Amino acid sequence: MGRLIRRLPSSPAAVAGAVLVTLMVILAIIGPPIWGAAAERIDPAAILQGSSAAHPLGTDNLGRDLLARVLVAGRYSLTLALLAALIGAGAGIVLGALPSVLPRRAARLVTGTVNALVAFPGLLLAMFTAVIAGLGAKGAVLGIGAAIAPGFARLTQTMAASIAGADYVAAARMLGVSRARILVRHVLPNIAEPLILNLTQALGGALLGLAGMSFLGLGVQPPAFDWGRLLFDGFARIYVTPEVALGPALAVALAGIGFNLLGDALAKVASRTAVPGKLSVPVVPPEQGEPDPGAVLEVKDLSVTFPGGVQPVRELSLTVAPGEIVGLVGESGSGKSLTAAAVGGLVPYPGAVTSGRLRLCGADLGELPEAERRKLLGTSLAMVFQDPMASLNPALKVGGQLAEVSIVHQGASRADARRRAVDRLGHVHLPEPEKQARRHPHQLSGGMRQRAVIAMGLMGTPKLIIADEPTTALDVTVQRQILRLLREVTEETGSAALFISHDIAVVGELCDRVAVMYAGRVVEELPVEQLATGAAHPYTRALVASLPDMDTDRSGPLASIPGRQPSPGQVGAGCAFTDRCPLATARCAERPPLVTYGKAHRVACWEA
Ligand code: SF4
Repeated sequence: MGRLIRRLPSSPAAVAGAVLVTLMVILAIIGPPIWGAAAERIDPAAILQGSSAAHPLGTDNLGRDLLARVLVAGRYSLTLALLAALIGAGAGIVLGALPSVLPRRAARLVTGTVNALVAFPGLLLAMFTAVIAGLGAKGAVLGIGAAIAPGFARLTQTMAASIAGADYVAAARMLGVSRARILVRHVLPNIAEPLILNLTQALGGALLGLAGMSFLGLGVQPPAFDWGRLLFDGFARIYVTPEVALGPALAVALAGIGFNLLGDALAKVASRTAVPGKLSVPVVPPEQGEPDPGAVLEVKDLSVTFPGGVQPVRELSLTVAPGEIVGLVGESGSGKSLTAAAVGGLVPYPGAVTSGRLRLCGADLGELPEAERRKLLGTSLAMVFQDPMASLNPALKVGGQLAEVSIVHQGASRADARRRAVDRLGHVHLPEPEKQARRHPHQLSGGMRQRAVIAMGLMGTPKLIIADEPTTALDVTVQRQILRLLREVTEETGSAALFISHDIAVVGELCDRVAVMYAGRVVEELPVEQLATGAAHPYTRALVASLPDMDTDRSGPLASIPGRQPSPGQVGAGCAFTDRCPLATARCAERPPLVTYGKAHRVACWEA
């Protein structure tokens, strides 16, 4: 908020709004002590006068000075408007946040209620509530609060839904953090700023609404008075002495314009931030088979299906042994990240995950009760996403976010969890870890943030680290440091890693074994030493050939693979690489199975 306010002077409308609001606040503070006595002084000799030197806005039916009354009424008018806006915002935020924590049916009911309230005319809602609550300031405040609430509820719902897709929310879900805690700790702090901005605009609306209620006789009742009440009293004399209505009308208009201008300007400055889409966790119980007891991760026949039968991941099988770093490589859209999401239970809704087997650390993820599955994922699996900024909650300090893992899963005290967080930050070579723990993510560089995310993964005792394009958003030097760190971490902790990348050079440098994905399937799996010269699948060979080396002729274009990978909805019955394959034959109309080609080497190609 402070950042936004500092940026305001660049906008003339914002300056005008800020000046008007400041004047109104000053008036509310100094009005009653300075002009309070004059506003209450009855003068039988000056009843119902028009404008004069002594009374620039005239007098009322008791001879009281209307200018003084307008100046004094500012405090009461603004206080009532603030109360109404706070009530509306509070009720709206609660209504809007409820669907995030309630079971699906109750959430739908609340959402339906909000939709109905949004469609209901605000003024009618305000009058209806005011009449039920009773005439006077209380009824008017509640009425205007009721009219403001649906807008806040809708805003909260929309923003909470969009924040729910952020990586750090996905990570918190995977850690087993409850919905209510995610809402309070991760969602609400990140939508607080736009809600506060909306409150500024709502204040202007409340002020006008309250004036309207008083003007209709439903608001403040004598002897109390606000601008609306003064306007109501002055309106009866509008044709004889129009100046008596001018003062309160001008005050209401200027205050309303001021709050709206300021709110608009703040909202414009704030609107330069965006948030990603929604995630859910569907995992279908697996079938029986012959599991590999020694594997850290064992995936067999894993498919991810979206409505319409689109399958971005198809019957994928993969095993990761303890301490092993397996690279999952392929072009964008080959299904690498969805495979990782399926393992972590983070496939976006409405995707459905099916698998013949999905075992982590010997436990069948499909058969475990939800709480145990969450706990296993939270303690044994660490996810490192591509964008470290999206992986960390921008509203929380780095140390606090790391500590949450120990608090939730190891039952550690806050102090112990924090000590471990600092220790882990030091472990990933962050300089001055104590200091970094006290910082917010935006205060760290990209490389430092990615180190912090890796440190977060090390808060538990992960047996498997899934790193999904963890170096893509970093510059080359920092990439090297992060790759070295990942290697170091796996060697020190004995954890295995599934390293996802589109860059076969990076994979070749870091990994022990490589699985190449194309159009949702693994088409080749081989030890990294064989990658350069022993690859058997035409696609893997083409990927390797597209890498420049010291002998590459830099004067011509770099080698590339002609054509494009088919989208998940276009994959046919045969080999998906057929259209781009120089070795394709008629037999390729039938899909080749992934078969053993040599030691630890499997290929899916008829011509291999
Ligand atoms: S199966 Fe046929 S089309 Fe597919 S990679 Fe092998 S040769 Fe090429």
